[in-house]
Amino acid sequence: MDVFSGYMDKLIGELSSLPGIGSKTAQRLAFHIMYMPQERVESLAKSMTDAREHVHYCKECLTLTDQELCPICANPKRDHKTIMVVENPRDLAAYEKTGKYEGVYHVLHGAISPMLGVGPSDIRLKELLQRLQGDVDELIIATNSSLEGETTAMYISKLVKPTGIRVTRIASGVPVGGDLEYIDEVTLLRALEGRTEL
Ligand code: ZN
Repeated sequence: MDVFSGYMDKLIGELSSLPGIGSKTAQRLAFHIMYMPQERVESLAKSMTDAREHVHYCKECLTLTDQELCPICANPKRDHKTIMVVENPRDLAAYEKTGKYEGVYHVLHGAISPMLGVGPSDIRLKELLQRLQGDVDELIIATNSSLEGETTAMYISKLVKPTGIRVTRIASGVPVGGDLEYIDEVTLLRALEGRTEL
């Protein structure tokens, strides 16, 4: 039974397809939007289409940015010889929030998962290996401590060790299966400081 108009149902449907938004929240948001001034709704919609249109991968670390290089890669004060490998831009953001990491990053956009059919060529490993041709002192592997994250860490370590570059893994203060973005800054820092050689 259609309770609302087709437009309203479509909006609720679109909103509830977003992660973490159930049908009740979707309804609440849809009603909220109906009561917002027209220009606020237009600005909200435009910020979504603008971001989608202009945001792409950083040429260097592959995080999301609207410049050629993200602000981290473009910053000469960062230590460009230390690269931290993360699974996604959210993990990068979590480490940036600690304000203590001075190196740069490499975003894989996924993790190796034989179960899900995600192989090494499905994540951005090729780009990482290219970066390692340059002047790099240390590669810190900060993939999640899930099975996929560990598999990916092992794979990268095997590839990189023969090059002589120091390869480290963040400490297991990060709970198993824990998504990095949900872990507080103190735990993240501890994991970084307690990293071990691979
Ligand atoms: Zn970058």
